[in-house]
Amino acid sequence: MSDAYARVILPAGSPLFEEGEAGRAAYLIVEGGIEIFLRREGGEVRLATRGAGEIVGEMALLDAGPRSASARAASDCSLIPITEDQIRYRTSQLDPILRMFLGVVLARYRDLMPLLNRSGPGSDLAAGTAPVGSNAAIARLMMERDLRRGLEAGELELFFQPIVRLASGSIAGFEALMRWRHPERGLVPPIEFIPVAEESGLIVEITQWALSEVGRVLPEIMRAALHNVAELEGPPFMSVNVSGHDLALVGFPATIADMLARTGLAPESLKIEITESILMHDPAKAAQALELCRESGMGIAIDDFGTGYSSLSYLTNLPITTLKVDRAFVQAMMREPRSRKVVQTILRLADELGIPVVAEGIEAEAEAEALVAMGCAFGQGYLFGRPTPLPETLTLTRAWRRDRRLGPAFPSAARA
Ligand code: C2E
Ligand code: CA
Ligand code: CA
Repeated sequence: MSDAYARVILPAGSPLFEEGEAGRAAYLIVEGGIEIFLRREGGEVRLATRGAGEIVGEMALLDAGPRSASARAASDCSLIPITEDQIRYRTSQLDPILRMFLGVVLARYRDLMPLLNRSGPGSDLAAGTAPVGSNAAIARLMMERDLRRGLEAGELELFFQPIVRLASGSIAGFEALMRWRHPERGLVPPIEFIPVAEESGLIVEITQWALSEVGRVLPEIMRAALHNVAELEGPPFMSVNVSGHDLALVGFPATIADMLARTGLAPESLKIEITESILMHDPAKAAQALELCRESGMGIAIDDFGTGYSSLSYLTNLPITTLKVDRAFVQAMMREPRSRKVVQTILRLADELGIPVVAEGIEAEAEAEALVAMGCAFGQGYLFGRPTPLPETLTLTRAWRRDRRLGPAFPSAARA
């Protein structure tokens, strides 16, 4: 069929079209690869590479708008241009039912365009790297597609960061922090993909994966801890970050309970971390889900405490077992007396309510000492250890010494 169409040969590196141009054709790639990118101040933002059998440039053709990105040959290419006239001519010869079907599908696709082209704050990717307007929407869609592929391909990975008892220096537990080992981009931090996952709802599958992964690795970490009972005051817990989408799922508490039952893990060895904004979004629903989680025995931590709405009423109404004070306060504490007062007040309040506190982002020995003096029970931060992959976490657990951060054997901690 393709022989009825003219072919275009494009040597590697040659431009195919530029952002902003009128889009008069889409291109079917017969051989080679086409790179789609945006030119921005400070360089290019690569969006995708398409290969043989795929189409490029169809967006502008379908919505009759300017090209939303630039494209060039990534390698020597053979392409078949497909113009609007050709589409009209070919479809006029189709069976009428098939033509109607295609017409409806295309109309739906065109209706989607304005939605994709939404711009404004909140629709951009991570600040500083985001292309604007429709480009951001397209880049976000591509990222979502890539993330879905990455999840299926097993590219997501959990790193683990120790949470220590400040008074003794022993490991109390770990926080599981997600990374994406991308085949081209390398290790992608969560700030670059969790927001996309949350916006698209893909976070639900990602959290399910994280929970089952925790079910797999926590027994291994516990076995490692058994080799070092003298330095750890009991089996470590694992804290997992959970989004509002997860909590809104009716079956969420049951999924966790199933995972615990399947793995034989004690419920108190698992904590979920939620932010204040999740609680504020739909307090009644969140309360219901949290009650169920708590009934099954797992811990519930409020993450980034102090940065959100900090409506203190939920501390008494909800079954909260841990408060995590945001690292912004911990880091400002040594410079500003007011931040120190905030930390002190949170610690006193939590103490009144019998809720233990984890101070996040401890990087300096002086910060840890000040927190101990104020009665803070737990700490987390580069001073004690960065998030690391499972093998390093197992080694660390076996070799942990309570005075680790002061020891010359751990120069990375001393440097932090
Ligand atoms: P978070 O839950 O507040 O996690 C703590 C973040 O602080 C982590 O960043 C950690 O690496 C970093 N951190 C720990 N100690 C220090 C320190 O001493 N100094 C500094 N400067 N940073 C420190 P990370 O791993 O990049 O994660 C960023 C955020 O991404 C997390 O913030 C959390 O909101 C989200 N996230 C990570 N993993 C997951 C996940 O599995 N699910 C969900 N829903 N969100 C996740
Ligand atoms: Ca967290
Ligand atoms: Ca936090």
